[in-house]
Amino acid sequence: MFDLKDLYQEVIVDHNRSPRNFGRLDNADRVAEGFNPLCGDRLNLYLKLDDGRISDISFDGNGCAISVASASLMTDALKGKTLGEAETMFNDFHQLLTDDKPHDIQRVEHLGKLAALLGVKHYPTRVKCATLCWHTLHSALEDNKTPVSTE
Ligand code: ZN
Repeated sequence: MFDLKDLYQEVIVDHNRSPRNFGRLDNADRVAEGFNPLCGDRLNLYLKLDDGRISDISFDGNGCAISVASASLMTDALKGKTLGEAETMFNDFHQLLTDDKPHDIQRVEHLGKLAALLGVKHYPTRVKCATLCWHTLHSALEDNKTPVSTE
């Protein structure tokens, strides 16, 4: 039988082993720094904006498998998106990870590969690992110079 859990695990292992969009972006328009003291995850996010669109995005830093896979999946998902679309994705992802209601299958499908991270929902301390990059993104889009902390 097709096992969704195994598939999700595979996506996370893959993105942790070979993170997409890893490395500093030269001439980034926005840079933000995030830290999750609970786990020790640190990441820097680099964005290039072009006419209200994320034309390029990358990250670097050190963190656990979940935080790295999440940042890799996020940067992959956001490249080429408008700021409005990025905001919608942030809200959907955050809500699915934090509310207790059963998943709306349409919203999960809309998230694509990002849905691989929904499994961490059952491990509350890991939710912060998965959402760190998204909070950092938020800070970058708001052009906030203060480093983000999940605590
Ligand atoms: Zn972590």
